Amino acid sequence: MRFLRWHNALRALCQRRGADITGMGFMAFDSVGGGSSASTYSTSPITAARQFLSEYWDGTLPVNPFLLARRAGLVVATADVNAGYSGRYMRAHRTIEINANESEVRQRFTCAHEIGHHVLNHEHAHRDSLEAFSSRNFDPKERAANQFAAELLMPTDPLTRLVRSGQIVSVDELARMFKVSQVAMTYRMNNLGIAR
Ligand SMILES: [Zn+2]
Repeated sequence: MRFLRWHNALRALCQRRGADITGMGFMAFDSVGGGSSASTYSTSPITAARQFLSEYWDGTLPVNPFLLARRAGLVVATADVNAGYSGRYMRAHRTIEINANESEVRQRFTCAHEIGHHVLNHEHAHRDSLEAFSSRNFDPKERAANQFAAELLMPTDPLTRLVRSGQIVSVDELARMFKVSQVAMTYRMNNLGIAR
């Protein structure tokens, strides 16, 4: 089922190549429908992100983490101007706060990271500074939230298929397609072993 969806997606993408595939996104799939209704997620961040996607994502690229958060019943709010942090998750209020002073790709990653804290059942409220998002962060919860965010915004399946199809060759193009930073995309491709 999922394979078929991606197969069709790739075909649609190839047909569109040269048109607007580096634009704001494209609708390549039918809506998901029949997604998992499970409210308990795996403790593995990668598996949990896939479960979350199958439940709330309609297959549109780029993945919209703000929309998915709302679909999951979370409130997405803007942090105070002088917050001094990128984002935080307040479990008791089911609320994610995002620092709107940061770049859009940054805010998208922050949102995905905070959804990770929610889905992975991290108990206390986090205030995430820049260090929390660093690949050098060794706090297990922060690392898990980052792994969740990477799978949410750059799902293994479409990314791997796109790269292997040979249709998309530059990191820059992929970064725009998935609406992430080039640094995040490079890191992700290295992690998946699909870097060129
Ligand atoms: Zn965090």
